[in-house]
Amino acid sequence: MIELSEATQIGLRCAADIIRGSRRAVVLTGAGISTPSGIPDFRSPDGGLWTQCDPFEVASLTSFRHNPANFYQWMRGLASIILEAQPNPAHFSLTALQQLGYLQTIITQNIDNLHQRAGSQNVLEVHGSFETMTCTGCYQSVKARDYVEAYLKRGELPYCPECGEVLKPDLVLMGEQLPAKIWLQAMQASKSCDLMIVAGSSLEVLPVAGLPMRALENGARLILINYSNTYLDVRADVVFHEDVAGIFPLIVEQVT
Ligand SMILES: [Zn+2]
Repeated sequence: MIELSEATQIGLRCAADIIRGSRRAVVLTGAGISTPSGIPDFRSPDGGLWTQCDPFEVASLTSFRHNPANFYQWMRGLASIILEAQPNPAHFSLTALQQLGYLQTIITQNIDNLHQRAGSQNVLEVHGSFETMTCTGCYQSVKARDYVEAYLKRGELPYCPECGEVLKPDLVLMGEQLPAKIWLQAMQASKSCDLMIVAGSSLEVLPVAGLPMRALENGARLILINYSNTYLDVRADVVFHEDVAGIFPLIVEQVT
């Protein structure tokens, strides 16, 4: 049981009031909601996998095309962690809020599928997903798991069963466009919500970091839960600089 300061307790009550008063709430989640599940923040400039090498040399679209073997070697650690990871209390709290009717859409920067595995619906994966792969030759889409497991176990690079070209995981690499349709849905949800809750994102990766601003411009309330400061702390109704997996269940408890 975590020790709660008085400020945190007031924040919890305030957040719960705002959630109960909302009609079209949207949550935006980032790496911080998955770090309690053991998944490193692989986009973070000061942590995660990118410190081990220059991301522009392996995790960009150009380098994937030139040297997929190098990319898969880089991705090996992340892939095995994601395959093993389980949703944590923050993921389940979002599912609970959705089931209670307080939450419509989850926009996530994560590629780990943990929201869906916790039972959440209507998840917009703006940085793509690790669940599927697309052929670089014929653009056929396949389920990723069998291919990733074969690679992890036997080092077999994933190739398309139809045309034999290499398969690329559907996560958005550096230099790659966000998936257009999902991005438009995320923009629309942000503009039309009356509450945005940011959970575990430092709001540093553009263009996703701009979504809460779209919500604010259209009169939405804002609740921020993140370890470190964000550029929107000053604009938020409630800010928690805490562990998302610790705080979110407490918020849901207050709401119900
Ligand atoms: Zn193919």
